[in-house]
Amino acid sequence: MSDDPTEPKKKKLRKLQTPLGVFDILPDDQLYYTHIKKVVRHRCRQSGFRRITTPVFEFTDVFQRSIGDATDIVQKEMYTFTDRKDRSFTLKPEGTAGVMRAYLQHGMKELPQPVELYYIEPHFRYDRPQKGRYRQFWQFGYEIIGESDPALDAQVIQLSHKIFEDLGIAHLLELQINSIGCAACREEYITQLQNYYVGKERSLCDRCVGRLEKNPLRLLDCKEEDCQILAQLAPQLKMYLCKDCKEFHGKVLEFLEASEIKYVENDKLVRGLDYYTRTVFEFWDRTQGAQNAVGGGGRYDGLMEMIGGPHTPGLGAAFGMERIILNMKREKIHVPSKDDLHIFVAQLGDDAKKRCLNLIWELRERGVKTVGALGKGSMKAQLRLADKFNVPYTLILGITEVRENTIIIRDMAKGQQRIIPFDTVIDEVVKLIGEKNLDKYSPGELVYS
Ligand SMILES: [Zn+2]
Ligand SMILES: [Zn+2]
Repeated sequence: MSDDPTEPKKKKLRKLQTPLGVFDILPDDQLYYTHIKKVVRHRCRQSGFRRITTPVFEFTDVFQRSIGDATDIVQKEMYTFTDRKDRSFTLKPEGTAGVMRAYLQHGMKELPQPVELYYIEPHFRYDRPQKGRYRQFWQFGYEIIGESDPALDAQVIQLSHKIFEDLGIAHLLELQINSIGCAACREEYITQLQNYYVGKERSLCDRCVGRLEKNPLRLLDCKEEDCQILAQLAPQLKMYLCKDCKEFHGKVLEFLEASEIKYVENDKLVRGLDYYTRTVFEFWDRTQGAQNAVGGGGRYDGLMEMIGGPHTPGLGAAFGMERIILNMKREKIHVPSKDDLHIFVAQLGDDAKKRCLNLIWELRERGVKTVGALGKGSMKAQLRLADKFNVPYTLILGITEVRENTIIIRDMAKGQQRIIPFDTVIDEVVKLIGEKNLDKYSPGELVYS
C-alpha cells in the first residue's frame, strides 16, 4: 500500500463477465454458426424463401397476443422492460410473431401468395439455463404465409430434413407429428379434457393445476411422471378432430410418405404456444426424446386474427442452433474452417515494410490468406509469430533482398528456404498454395439504375 496522498485511490471493480445463460461465440464455435447459416441460406434460397430480419425488441403485445397470455413463455420467460416513456417492450422470445406483424404492417398480402420468409437470429427467454439451452439463443426458422394446403406442411418438414441431412445429424433425429385440430374441434375436446381431470387435481403438479383452466392442452406434454400417467388415459385428441382436420392431417402424412420421410405419430404432442392449429411437429433426439428436441413448428391459421389482421393461414418451423451444434459435436462432425492462413510476411527496414504493404494486398487479391507483422520489430520476433499462426510458408524481405530485388520463401514444415526474384513471388506462392485452396472472393456485380 502506498501512503502517497497524491496517488489516486483505486476502487476495486467487479470482474466483468457475461450474465448467466448468455455466452460469447468465440472464433472456434463461430465456424459452426457460419456453417449452419450457410446451409440454411442455401436451402431456403433454393426453395424460394427470402430472408427477413425483425427487430430484437417489439411492443410487448406483439408477443402477448400471438403466443398467448396463458403460455409459459408469456407468463414467465419474457424479457420485458419499459422505456423512458413507460412503454412496454419485450426482447423477442421467438420468431413467428414478429414476422406476422411485419407481414401485416407492410401489406405483404398484396404480394403473390404464399409469402415465404426465413430468418437466422438471436432470441431471448428467461429460462433455466442448462446444456444446450440459454437465455440468449440462436434460431433459424421459416414461415409460409397466405395459403393453406397440406403439401406446404410437408414442404416445411422436408426443408428441415434436408438441412439436418446437410449438417450430418438427420439420422439422430426423429420426426414427431400430431394434429391439434382447429378452433372448432379443439373446443369440444378441451371440455372433455377438463371433465376428465375433475377430481384428479391432487395428482397433478403445481404447474398443471394452473394450466387446467387456461391452457389444458399442455397437461398432455408435461414432463412430470404423475402428470404423464394421467395423460396416458386422458381422452385422445384425434377422436375429436372434425372431418376437415382429419382429412388435412391424413394428406400431410400421405405427402410425407411420398417424400419418404419417416415420422412418429404422437397424440400427446401439443407444443407450448397458443397459436398452433392442425399440424404440429418436432424433431426429437432418437435416444433422449423430447428432452433434446432441436425444435419444430406447425400450422397457425388463426394467428393473424389474434394479432388484429384478416384471416391469413400460415405455418412455419424454428430450430435452436446451440442444440444442433451440440449434436454435431457429439457426432464428432467438424465443419470446414476457412480461417487457416496461407502466408506470413516478415520484413526488416522501412523500404521492406513499404514493399510488403502492397505485396500483402496483392496476395490477398489473388485469394492467398496473408498476414504480416508490420508492427513487430526483430526478425526473430516475427518468425516466432509465423510459427504461432501455423502458416505453411513465410516470405522474408530484409535490407539485402530489397537491394537485390529478391525475396526469401521459407517452407515452415521442412525448415528450408530459397531466394527468388521479387517479381515472381506472387505466382510462385499461388502455385505452392494450389488454385483450389485459394480463398477467392467476389463482391458480386453492382447494378446501377
Ligand atoms: Zn377441426
Ligand atoms: Zn404437470
